[in-house]
Amino acid sequence: MRGGVISGKLNEDNGAISVIVPDVSVVVPVRDEVESLPLLLEAIASSVGGNFSYEIICVDDGSTDGSAEYLKEQAQIRPDLKAVLLRRNYGQTAAMSAGFNYAIGQAIVTLDADLQNDPADIPMLLAKLAEGYDLVSGWRHKRQDAVVSRLIPSKVANWLIGKVTEVKLHDYGCSLKAYRAEVVADMNLYGELHRFLPALAFIEGARITEVPVRHHARRFGRSKYGIWRTFRVMMDLLTIYFMKKFLTRPMHVFGLLGLGSIVTGTLIGIYLTFLKLALGETIGNRPLLILAVLLLVTGVQLFCFGLLAELLMRTYHESQGRPIYRVREVVAQNVK
Ligand code: UDP
Ligand code: MG
Repeated sequence: MRGGVISGKLNEDNGAISVIVPDVSVVVPVRDEVESLPLLLEAIASSVGGNFSYEIICVDDGSTDGSAEYLKEQAQIRPDLKAVLLRRNYGQTAAMSAGFNYAIGQAIVTLDADLQNDPADIPMLLAKLAEGYDLVSGWRHKRQDAVVSRLIPSKVANWLIGKVTEVKLHDYGCSLKAYRAEVVADMNLYGELHRFLPALAFIEGARITEVPVRHHARRFGRSKYGIWRTFRVMMDLLTIYFMKKFLTRPMHVFGLLGLGSIVTGTLIGIYLTFLKLALGETIGNRPLLILAVLLLVTGVQLFCFGLLAELLMRTYHESQGRPIYRVREVVAQNVK
């Protein structure tokens, strides 16, 4: 939000620029939620409409129940709605990412289309952003979901994610979040990384906080996920862990492990050679010999892998013009 925080006042159109930047873009991924959509659009409009200029971006993620048609029709009559229709189902992360690409607001709010999140909480999140935070995450403190398939896995996952990412939140899975637009612009999303947006933002140096929000049981349709999501989340967590610790220095892990392995293998090799040459023992049948060979081979591989990872990391940063740091602001009398 360059040039100030969200004021809570409607933008004034001074006629100089044709595209008015709204205060808030509300991004909603939609898959088969046609019953919820009319209520959702009204709820969002009445919650942010009074005090903020806003746009709603509904991304249809390959729905087959008529959600896409409904959104298309509404977008032609509602000036506050942008409907982005994906060609097929890509998943919630991709749908959100598409929404971010079309969002032009100073702040971006995400929420689910199923009315489990309450749009009435949006102004509260925006107020926190205005306090100076870059990302405000919702915390479903009275969550209305199944105990065994949802609440328990989610408790474990939240604990683990907290440990690994060092971002201290109670609830990483809540879709209701608010971001400063710049924070989202810096992020590339893959897999199911949308739930790790706070962690990714934290890696980029964002100031993060959370607020308790309401959560309702699903009224229409059914959840698009089962218990298997937990395992996919765990894999994504490993990726995040690596990115957080070693993204710009992969050689520090692979090189160290590789060298350690090579040195240990070599020492064992020298010891065995000594036994063979000086004492005349047979070493061909010793497990230690196999270990030495294994250590040497894996060591060399790890080392080479580290070198490759270094090259890839450079390509990653340089091809996209991604600096390895993020500047919050520059204060000086003359900044070019
Ligand atoms: N969703 C989507 N694409 C998918 C799966 C889900 O856009 O492939 C949307 C879905 O319509 C909803 C949100 O993502 O708005 C969260 O999904 P869901 O409510 O099923 O997840 P849960 O709340 O059960 O975790
Ligand atoms: Mg839901």
